[in-house]
Amino acid sequence: MLPVYIERAENAELWDAEGKRYIDFAGGIAVVNTGHLHPKVKAAVTAQLEAFSHTCVMITPYRLAVELAERLNEIAPGSTPKKTMFVTTGAEAVENAIKIARSHTGRPGVIAFGGGFHGRTYMGMALTGKVAPYKIGFGPFPGDVYHVPFPMPFHGGSTEESLNALEQLFKTEVEPARVAAIIVEPVLGEGGFYVAPRDFLPALRALCDSHGILLICDEIQTGFARTGRMFASEHFNIEPDLMTLAKSLAGGFPLAAIVGKAPIMDAPVVGGLGGTYAASPVACAAALAVLDVMREEDLPGRSQKIGDRIRSRMQGLQSRLRCIGEVRGLGGMIAIELVRDRVPHQPDADLAKALVQRCAANGLVLLSCGIYSNVIRFLPPLTISDALLDEGLSVVERALTDLASAK
Ligand code: PMP
Repeated sequence: MLPVYIERAENAELWDAEGKRYIDFAGGIAVVNTGHLHPKVKAAVTAQLEAFSHTCVMITPYRLAVELAERLNEIAPGSTPKKTMFVTTGAEAVENAIKIARSHTGRPGVIAFGGGFHGRTYMGMALTGKVAPYKIGFGPFPGDVYHVPFPMPFHGGSTEESLNALEQLFKTEVEPARVAAIIVEPVLGEGGFYVAPRDFLPALRALCDSHGILLICDEIQTGFARTGRMFASEHFNIEPDLMTLAKSLAGGFPLAAIVGKAPIMDAPVVGGLGGTYAASPVACAAALAVLDVMREEDLPGRSQKIGDRIRSRMQGLQSRLRCIGEVRGLGGMIAIELVRDRVPHQPDADLAKALVQRCAANGLVLLSCGIYSNVIRFLPPLTISDALLDEGLSVVERALTDLASAK
């Protein structure tokens, strides 16, 4: 995205090969919620490297993987006993969640949402509800995958409309008894930080229960304190049957997980799931330290405060600039949607692109997203100081004000 080659990173700052310093509002795409090289994560990884780096957990297991699974089982939303399995990437977590759901239900169908993102593998692509650039030229995709609209009030959508679309799907495309799972992000990540309306996830939970369909929450981007809770599902008081986790789970080391209700997790045949690097001991050591840091530094609480700060500064900017159509988000997962003259259906992707480039030139790494590529998302480490956060937000304010006035 940027012609910048990074040499060093610390907490919420990066330095490039020419010595230029950047404030990091991208966090490696929501991966370093605990900051770059948090001292506790670094110490845990360093200690693990003195012991061993790989044995393959399927051959000779180790304490770290068991301990991490137990801690994730404990903090996963809901009271049903849980089990956890590890893989390496988010897309792999999604693949395995679908394998588990199909194995448990004996049903083939999977329903996902327009605007959702679930990874770049074949099932991940099939589930993803954004064509460009993720699906162009890569088909055909696995079958028995269906999409309905995600409720986006800013674009005129609602819970009612999405539930009607599901009912319609059951009449015109697939009977509910053939559907294994519905997969949903509580807040769309790549799709544009649209937050599920309050009543939507409880309604999905009830619909799934009435048809014996499993509810999978993809918390790969929303997880690990980003939304002001450890997991975004907690805001909606629902217990997912399966949850996919990755990104900030291990603070920059490749690790992903599927956490689910124990009887569901036990469905696949022994040996049916796995991976050579699944539960890398180095990544597990990092993840255990991440969980400690999140508790000790109350990062869910900090996320809420960061979100409030970003929201209020961006609302201030919105009152002055007609190019900000909406400021939205949950906890510290905040975005602004750029449009022409406050009209929701006139997305301004060029402005989003120009803003990202202008901010980079001024020492801030910022990311866009959205089905129309016109949303700017804020993903700073949750360990960022107020001073650095404010400095970064000022870069955004100045750049957007300049770009908007030049139009
Ligand atoms: N699901 C969601 C919600 C994501 O945000 C992502 C990554 N952006 C993925 C799945 C895929 O994760 P990975 O890139 O680690 O495969």
